[in-house]
Amino acid sequence: MAFKKGNQLRKGVTPWNKGLTKNRDNRIKKQAGRMEGSNNPNWKGNSIKSLSSLHSWIARYKSKPLFCEKCNKKKPYDLANISGEYKRDVNDYKWICRSCHMNEDGRMIELVKNAEIFRDKIMKRTEKKRKLAKSLRDEGFSYRSISEKIGYRGRSSVYGLLSKNGDVGIIKSLLAP
Ligand SMILES: [Zn+2]
Repeated sequence: MAFKKGNQLRKGVTPWNKGLTKNRDNRIKKQAGRMEGSNNPNWKGNSIKSLSSLHSWIARYKSKPLFCEKCNKKKPYDLANISGEYKRDVNDYKWICRSCHMNEDGRMIELVKNAEIFRDKIMKRTEKKRKLAKSLRDEGFSYRSISEKIGYRGRSSVYGLLSKNGDVGIIKSLLAP
């Protein structure tokens, strides 16, 4: 996911640290060290406010290249996070152009949509199996034989299926990276 454009105030003004990184300039290094992690007064966990302060911080310390770091063709427009973890690390971001920015957002929406469709399919299938497992249980079958009949691995997965929160584990395992 990419950040919204920020730092309008600095538009048109060349900052003293333009093009410098903490690996190349001692002033930057000092400043970066001082502002890292919990030392940064603006850094308060994972809120929107702290994300936007993180964005300004990255925009300040990550030098802007001449061209988009993705297509290498157009002018960079905004910062995109690479890991999805929003690390306080300039190497976890790249400057990308407006169209690459929109593509990244579109891709993210597509990914979420696909995950939802996939999850719904699994949920439907799971619901069918749950009904079957319930009726088998009511008929007096053991959990082990139910698991064999519905194609599950072992008794514990049938316990999970028939428990109230059976879906939570399934969804978690689907959405896990
Ligand atoms: Zn681009």
